[in-house]
Amino acid sequence: MDNAVFSALIMVLIMFGVGLYISAPFMRRTSADMFKDDYDETPLHHLLSRKDSIYAAMRELEFDYNTGKLSDGDYESLQGKFAGEAAGVLEEIDVMTGKPKTKTKTKTSGKSAALDDAAESDKCGACGFVYVEGDKFCAGCGADLV
Ligand SMILES: [Zn+2]
Repeated sequence: MDNAVFSALIMVLIMFGVGLYISAPFMRRTSADMFKDDYDETPLHHLLSRKDSIYAAMRELEFDYNTGKLSDGDYESLQGKFAGEAAGVLEEIDVMTGKPKTKTKTKTSGKSAALDDAAESDKCGACGFVYVEGDKFCAGCGADLV
């Protein structure tokens, strides 16, 4: 092989390698987005994925608290913040899916609410995590909900 051609080839290979290396984080992000594609295509799915990430953050918070990484005060204020965000997102989801506001699931809603509300059955069979109707996967354990 001609020496000039050979070194040119090496150069191209190096450039290609460097290019791949530099773009790797972006490629990863892109493939992650692609993975979530059918999740983000509608406003509702956007809300659902937002809800999922809030729940994920809440679980992480719980974990950090349980492992002693957070003080009681930090835990409580963060949990309150996440709970507020989650409630807001759930409300937006309810509005979008045409559900009445009263369907928001809270422990304080008591037995009477549970009776006329099928929401109690919206629990993951695998882990008991309460999910929103229309979810494809459990936000608690990732199990298939269909
Ligand atoms: Zn689950």
